[in-house]
Amino acid sequence: MDKKQIQLSVPNLDIEIVESLRECIETGWVSTGGRFIGEFERKTAQYVGIADAVSAQSGTAGLHVALRILGISAGDEVLVPTLTFVAAVNPVKYLGAEPVFMDCDDSFCMDVDKLEQFCQEECIFDGAKLIDKKTGKTIKAIVVVHIFGNLADMERIMDISQKYNLKVLEDATEALGSYYKEGRYRGYFSGTIADMGVYSFNANKIITTGGGGMIVSRNQHYLDEARYLTITAKKTSAEETLFFVHGDVGYNYRMLNLQAALGVSQIDKLECFIETKIANYKTYKEELQKVDGIRIIPFKEDIRANHWFYSLYIDNERFGESRNELMHRLIQNGIQCRPVWKLIHTLEPYINAQNYKIAKAVDYADHILNVPCSTNLTSEEIKYVCKIIKEK
Ligand SMILES: *Cc1c(COP(=O)(O)O)cnc(C)c1O
Repeated sequence: MDKKQIQLSVPNLDIEIVESLRECIETGWVSTGGRFIGEFERKTAQYVGIADAVSAQSGTAGLHVALRILGISAGDEVLVPTLTFVAAVNPVKYLGAEPVFMDCDDSFCMDVDKLEQFCQEECIFDGAKLIDKKTGKTIKAIVVVHIFGNLADMERIMDISQKYNLKVLEDATEALGSYYKEGRYRGYFSGTIADMGVYSFNANKIITTGGGGMIVSRNQHYLDEARYLTITAKKTSAEETLFFVHGDVGYNYRMLNLQAALGVSQIDKLECFIETKIANYKTYKEELQKVDGIRIIPFKEDIRANHWFYSLYIDNERFGESRNELMHRLIQNGIQCRPVWKLIHTLEPYINAQNYKIAKAVDYADHILNVPCSTNLTSEEIKYVCKIIKEK
């Protein structure tokens, strides 16, 4: 046991999947055509309770296309979180727009009080457009990230977006399977509440296709547009297809049949994975509840969270060891763990971007440690991780 490496978040793939991969190889359908793509799109849409979904080669690609469809272009501004993975923000820059960074609340998701305050106090709304007083630029949209499987406060975010005529994109890459149990959006899955949403099937996500993404929306027009743009904007009538008629500058972003072959199997496991995630979370919580100076970050009560990632808050003084010291000690013991992301507004490509009253995110960036959370983790392994933590 002691020699074993415990990984942070690794895939849980069934070996039977090779049969589907064999089919792709034997039939030659290994690229952006083939039966698994449509099947995976349908299954994903069905799982989250909407009519359609559009696959992409990554979550990042999905976010890029979605933002473009929502009308983001050069010179616009987009409100984004600072405490998240950088891929949630990069697509804003791909389109020539500028991010404005927001703080987080105790769920790590965007602080809606500060979001509203920013719109009210730092901008002018002329009845149609929200204009940033400092730059004179138009704020077009909000990118909301559902961090680690928690859900942002979508009721208030949607209210704010309506008041100020902003589009909302849900980066649900970490929260596939999370849904509201109460309130206005009861029964709504992450990604299906705002204008558009995106999932990721990267290897560390709750289900994986190696790499991949999915664009969702309740607006079929947006999804049609996404399908078109992800196949290099190729027109689809028989004649047009034959002569390679492209109506726009599109992208080569469609998912591969090989990836989708994994997806159709993985999505059947999703509910099972979530059960395991919840059970493992409970084990951590019980094992660590009496440890002074460490608390496990809770998921919201009014949602069914997918419990994708487990975060520990390390109070250096009370615990007697800093987050980084604990992290290195765990790594030395073969336990892979990671600090939460470095805040995006402090990263080199974004140091000159605007940010608004960021405080809480700074504290979390300094104190949060993510511990192993793979769905194939055993309770012995979790107890071992907790034992090492307690050995300080
Ligand atoms: C994983 C992730 C992405 C990107 O997804 P990829 O499929 O890896 O491109 C974007 N945003 C967040 C918050 C993520 O965690």
